[in-house]
Amino acid sequence: MHPLGYVQAREIDTAIHAAIQEATSAFIAGGTGIVDLMQDSAQLPRRLVDINPLPINTITVKTDSVRIGAMVRNSEVIANAMIRDRYPALFDALSYSATPQIRNMATVGGNLLQRTRCSYFRDVTFSCNERNPGSGCPALEGYNRSHAILGTSESCIAAHASDMAVALTALDAVIHTRGLHGERQIPITEFYLEPGETPERETVLEHGEIIVAVELPNSPLAAQSHYFKSPTDNFSLAAVAAALAVHDGVIQAARIAFGGVATKPWRSISAETVLINAPLNEATFNNAAIAALETAVPRTFNGFKVELLKRMLIYALLTVGGIA
Ligand SMILES: Cc1cc2nc3c(=O)[nH]c(=O)nc-3n(C[C@H](O)[C@H](O)[C@H](O)COP(=O)(O)OP(=O)(O)OC[C@H]3O[C@@H](n4cnc5c(N)ncnc54)[C@H](O)[C@@H]3O)c2cc1C
Repeated sequence: MHPLGYVQAREIDTAIHAAIQEATSAFIAGGTGIVDLMQDSAQLPRRLVDINPLPINTITVKTDSVRIGAMVRNSEVIANAMIRDRYPALFDALSYSATPQIRNMATVGGNLLQRTRCSYFRDVTFSCNERNPGSGCPALEGYNRSHAILGTSESCIAAHASDMAVALTALDAVIHTRGLHGERQIPITEFYLEPGETPERETVLEHGEIIVAVELPNSPLAAQSHYFKSPTDNFSLAAVAAALAVHDGVIQAARIAFGGVATKPWRSISAETVLINAPLNEATFNNAAIAALETAVPRTFNGFKVELLKRMLIYALLTVGGIA
């Protein structure tokens, strides 16, 4: 076991530099994810950079958007009445995440960067391409009930775990970061990477780059969004974030994102394309569900997710469409 260094940063640039100086450093925010991984030896940073004192812990309401600091706790997000009214999908997703005690510690930045719950990733007695590139993926032929059916590769089928990230994907969130090379604003649809042949790279973040905030645009569509998850008392096996704008019985705009079934928070452009300009009825929703699952690759134990997700999407659309 190697020694572990600890640095507490009071300014963002101090945190970035403290992280960059050590190749295996990691930020620690609420600690509800990274400490478990360290206890299991699945992640072994040589330096922890504690970002709890950073001044990125407020929710700011702007004219056309809301900015949520990366250190805002998950419980503060759902306690905010404005978030509940303008972004119900975000409220729902966080309300069904973890437990009140964990939500009191867990932060927005940490939630976005939580690692997969794939048991082969977390158990270091197994090989894992994400933890140890090139070592293999036992989940492909192993017990893959909780694994992904969308966005998979022959290197990795681990499902992305964050419920909040799925809601944010349907809400067109933009992630604000700061790193050695300055600030970036990254649409959430470009933030996460599919595993391909490099599953060890989960996001576009560079080493030492810190999430400082998440920005959500105001929109009537966002205010009608909802999040549906199964099961509701554990990590999602399947989840749907959905929003529809309807005029005279015809769908004008749609936002659909999936969780628990994909290697990253999954915006379903295929489903949205079927929905837009189509009549608001169950036949349309059924067609959207078929289109959404067209590229699914089920394995031995997770084939049930195809039917589960189809039914959840139809149920979600009936509900947000007001015809359930
Ligand atoms: C029992 C249990 C049940 C759970 N159930 C659910 C669930 O149902 N749904 C769900 O979505 N999640 C669930 N979670 C996961 C939980 O939401 C995450 O553990 C939590 O959100 C992580 O936030 P944190 O602040 O504690 O992150 P930390 O553990 O501090 O950090 C997590 C990762 O993010 C990095 N990081 C943190 N902040 C930043 C930042 N600002 N910039 C760059 N990197 C950063 C860290 O380096 C680390 O790699 C559960 C967790 C537990 C323990």
